[in-house]
Amino acid sequence: MYDVAIIGAGPAGASAAIFTAKAGKKTVLIDNDKSMTKRAWVENHYGVMEITGPDLVETGKKQAVKLGAELVNAQVVNITKIEAGFLIQTDDAAFETKHVILATGIATELAEKVGVKTKAGTEPRIKTIIDVDASGRTNIDGIWAAGTVAGVSVHTIITAGDGAKVAINIISELNGERYVDHDVLKA
Ligand SMILES: Cc1cc2nc3c(=O)[nH]c(=O)nc-3n(C[C@H](O)[C@H](O)[C@H](O)COP(=O)(O)OP(=O)(O)OC[C@H]3O[C@@H](n4cnc5c(N)ncnc54)[C@H](O)[C@@H]3O)c2cc1C
Repeated sequence: MYDVAIIGAGPAGASAAIFTAKAGKKTVLIDNDKSMTKRAWVENHYGVMEITGPDLVETGKKQAVKLGAELVNAQVVNITKIEAGFLIQTDDAAFETKHVILATGIATELAEKVGVKTKAGTEPRIKTIIDVDASGRTNIDGIWAAGTVAGVSVHTIITAGDGAKVAINIISELNGERYVDHDVLKA
């Protein structure tokens, strides 16, 4: 049983995984390698002078794995409710989890298939988004959404930040108190 299954390992999903894994939550990060970010050249990400989209995505995934997330290269084809949470299904594997984060970029088919409520997008070229509240919760308790698919501005710093925000909200819920991750400069 995972604490959190994150679908999509672009900036939103990998950033969420960095936080949940570092907080000691058992995390699986599942991705089918179709990130829009792999086409980007990025000069507007705070703290990074310039980076290719592919390098940003690869570094994000490596960072999540280094901090304890399990990375699976696969397409998630279904999510079903089970007593303890959800069953995430790929073509050849299944994962039980308490919480799910949909960080699927422009893809909303999976959300629609499993009954997550969607609505019209507001950002340029984003037709449909998942209907979330300010915390990132969807209409299904335990399924959250982050990044482009959750309707935030389509920029890496913002989608990554949104993934982190949703992760912190889930960690806080699991811990029963507000969570903060502050490492202190080593002397
Ligand atoms: C050409 C181009 C240039 C850009 N340039 C910039 C720029 O200069 N600066 C900037 O800030 N932003 C730029 N962006 C925008 C930036 O890429 C996005 O804002 C942001 O990275 C989106 O992050 P995301 O995690 O929401 O989505 P994505 O990066 O698209 O990640 C979503 C992930 O979900 C996976 N996925 C979807 N469905 C499933 C499923 N069913 N099962 C498994 N995996 C699934 C996909 O494979 C993908 O890896 C650019 C975008 C493009 C297209």
